[in-house]
Amino acid sequence: MEIVVIIALVLGILFLNRPVTLLFQRLYTRHQFKRFTAAETFYHSVVSRHFKYYNRLSLEEQQKFLFRTYVFEHSKNFHYIEVERNAEMPILVSAAAVQLTFGLEKFKLSYFDDIFILRDDYHYGFYSRPFMGHVDQTGIYLSWDNFIKGISGETPNCNVGLHEMGHALAYVNFVTQTEEDKHFKAEFHNFSKVARPIFTAMQGGAKNFLGDYAATNYHEFWAVAIEMFFENAVQFRHELPDLYEAMIRVLNQDPLSFITSNRTIIRRMDPTAANRKKAMIQ
Ligand SMILES: [Zn+2]
Repeated sequence: MEIVVIIALVLGILFLNRPVTLLFQRLYTRHQFKRFTAAETFYHSVVSRHFKYYNRLSLEEQQKFLFRTYVFEHSKNFHYIEVERNAEMPILVSAAAVQLTFGLEKFKLSYFDDIFILRDDYHYGFYSRPFMGHVDQTGIYLSWDNFIKGISGETPNCNVGLHEMGHALAYVNFVTQTEEDKHFKAEFHNFSKVARPIFTAMQGGAKNFLGDYAATNYHEFWAVAIEMFFENAVQFRHELPDLYEAMIRVLNQDPLSFITSNRTIIRRMDPTAANRKKAMIQ
């Protein structure tokens, strides 16, 4: 008799575990959404002032964007190093991550509990050149002045927020495998079929729109491609159409799809992508 009870218990745990977890997640999400609605106006005012990307979304998409931003922000510990914190900072950093993953199902970059915001370029490890940001097993690091310049468009083709979130997205899917997005992982394989030959040619000295820094290694190629995809999509599609298409598929979104007959996007055109700031974006 006892063995029957034990087997029933084990089977119960096995079969009910997932539905119970899903139910709990749904209830928690509902609870978060309730709290979010009280803060939505503030989130909108912050994000709409800095993210052109956000302003081009439909109202429904904007709410999804803001809620994801809220959830992302509340899943992280933000640390401020030699920079005065304000309420907008974690929202804007979270919004950069949400922009990148907006076409994907998973967006929390789970594994990274800590995000470090530094004042400006900084030194790290044994590298002699200063960094604008980097990602390692301890967290995501961003320099605030470079981050703000990136989202305000002051530094054409350079957006350290998107760049570092790009590294983090690859990290949680392929290194720690702590937040695997099925679509992203499956499509990354196809992305690489197009991207690898371009990257290999660049390592052999070929020049293109992505600039020399993208040839450093495949991680940097990926992160720079993300910056260009969002910051200079028109030229990207013109110069490297196959790679642009592969980016659309892997991220499941197209920045140029926002262009409609009654909405004109004025883009910064800077053909000298190689003319990147000297500081390294690792
Ligand atoms: Zn990098």
